[in-house]
Amino acid sequence: EEHGGHLPTDLKGLDEALCGGIPFGVLTELVGPAGIGKTQFCMKLSLLASLPAVYGGLNGHVIYIDVESKFSSRRMIEIGVKSFPDLFKMTGVIQEMAGRILVLRPTSLSKFTESLQQIKESLLQRQVKLLVIDSMAAIISRGYGHGASRQHLLGWHISFIKSLAEISRIPIVVTNQVRSQTHEEGCQYSFQVQRTEDPAGYDSHLVAALGINWAHAVTIRLVLEAKSGQRFIKLAKSPMSPPLAFPFNITSAGISL
Ligand code: ATP
Ligand code: MG
Repeated sequence: EEHGGHLPTDLKGLDEALCGGIPFGVLTELVGPAGIGKTQFCMKLSLLASLPAVYGGLNGHVIYIDVESKFSSRRMIEIGVKSFPDLFKMTGVIQEMAGRILVLRPTSLSKFTESLQQIKESLLQRQVKLLVIDSMAAIISRGYGHGASRQHLLGWHISFIKSLAEISRIPIVVTNQVRSQTHEEGCQYSFQVQRTEDPAGYDSHLVAALGINWAHAVTIRLVLEAKSGQRFIKLAKSPMSPPLAFPFNITSAGISL
């Protein structure tokens, strides 16, 4: 589907494979193990969405749902200062950029549900150009009950988040942690059993937490992984690209190829 618009990631190969960047109007998921760089990536995207257009940004506001208190405005400003020194030298830019990012920290599932409803109102005002949920599995683990009621509630949240993307036509980026690396290169035996029905990049814990409906709700899935000390970002699900992997690094300037 073409919803007209992309948020460039500043990772050249990835942007080309995505025909310009993270697409508007759909869900993009970042999956990977702890410490791989999902939050770093989201902070970079938040910065890019808030930057003026001449710097490749969307000149917008960002809503960042920070479930595990992992967002750091200090780190985001560091990424800005190192990546765009000329801009960040200017008076007031740091305050302006910081003021464009609204960080929400829902402490329970019901607070999250409330936040989503308020977000719907803000999105209709058209200033917000990116919504980040970091992470979906973490908020869901804060209480959904069991069995049929769980599936029902989860289904409601998934549809609601999808409809937010469709109505507002902004990119929605959602992270999810997987427990461990998949098969390590050079390892003779892999003890990591990947069930064939699991979507690429998922593990059974994530499928159990989110259900298979979640995997289908996501239009783009980016899998972050490390092999032999090198980090990779893999385009694991995309309607317009074969699976491609790009090496990346994390420096003081943030995520870069
Ligand atoms: P989790 O699933 O636990 O939330 P994550 O995938 O979100 O993990 P991040 O917090 O995005 O992981 O990444 C953490 C990594 O980012 C650190 O291990 C470190 O290697 C790197 N990192 C963070 N800050 C810097 C910095 N200033 N310079 C270089 N690398 C950094
Ligand atoms: Mg994180």
